[in-house]
Amino acid sequence: MVFPDANTEMIAILGHPVDHSLSPIIHNTALQRQGLNYIYVAVDLVPEQVSEAIRGLSALGFAGANVTIPHKQAVLSHMDDLSDAAGAIRAVNTIVCKEGQLYGDNTDIEGFLSPLRDMKLHGAPMTLLGAGGAARAAAYGLLRDYCPNPLVLVARRTSQAETLVRDFANFDGCLEVCDFDSASKFIRNSRLIVNSTPIGMYPNVQETPWKQKEDFSPEQIVYDLVYRPYRTRLLQDAAERGAMTIGGLTMLIEQAAASYRQWTNREMPVGTVRDTLTKLGIISIGNNEGNLFHSGG
Ligand code: NAP
Repeated sequence: MVFPDANTEMIAILGHPVDHSLSPIIHNTALQRQGLNYIYVAVDLVPEQVSEAIRGLSALGFAGANVTIPHKQAVLSHMDDLSDAAGAIRAVNTIVCKEGQLYGDNTDIEGFLSPLRDMKLHGAPMTLLGAGGAARAAAYGLLRDYCPNPLVLVARRTSQAETLVRDFANFDGCLEVCDFDSASKFIRNSRLIVNSTPIGMYPNVQETPWKQKEDFSPEQIVYDLVYRPYRTRLLQDAAERGAMTIGGLTMLIEQAAASYRQWTNREMPVGTVRDTLTKLGIISIGNNEGNLFHSGG
């Protein structure tokens, strides 16, 4: 156990609300495991104080910060430099403070892509449910790395998805937009289906963004970005139909690991983090309860 002292490097997650965040558990577990003199705290930051708080990071000697809802766009204009990814999706989830300069990155993309790494998805048809912040990160990652044909964006406000299409017009992948009522044929034909809406998130665990489970089949991968509960109703329905399923906790841990690397120059001990989340009951173990599993066989 390292006790905080005058040399402790501070990292904060800035959000509003932020009390639900698992990031302090993830990062402090890893920092303690590696005996690093850092501390990671959750800060409930109201939108009116974003500018002051970001300016204060360097003054207070913070190593960096994570940024979550609703500040991911608001902090952009305060960065001295941006990664290509953060610039492209116009959202920052990671700030690195170095020599008085603020560097903004977006590790949600790397986190999102990590469980897909070994899958042959190039040129495959894909569907993304939702068109908000997480959808922007997912769409960018899929277009950049997999050139989907097509990538269909399903949104209740199609104007939101059309903005995303305009922002990513320079990618080769073929983007289409539709509403939930006309998405069935795209879902059935998709190799990868991603939920980036909050539907099914605790406490509304009986809800699902896609009720017609007959549209799922064993050739498909269904990926839910929601991580609470560990296995959403969407994943249970898809698994019942033989699809491979991926839960949002892998993305959460991998985006954290990518931020951690930038602050500490160390690899996050992901196994230790998973053990802690298991002990706390956040990861449930049991029959078919893996975060990434194939239930078809
Ligand atoms: P967001 O920016 O608010 O976007 C949510 C999207 O879902 C919007 O397009 C929204 O449409 C749509 N939506 C919400 N309720 C809907 C409903 N009942 N029917 C149809 N569409 C609906 O939120 P976000 O940041 O993208 O986050 C979305 C989800 O991803 C959350 O559950 C979040 O926890 C999860 N997430 C997970 C990770 C991870 O690491 N696993 C990372 C980021 C986000 P409107 O704009 O019309 O409301």
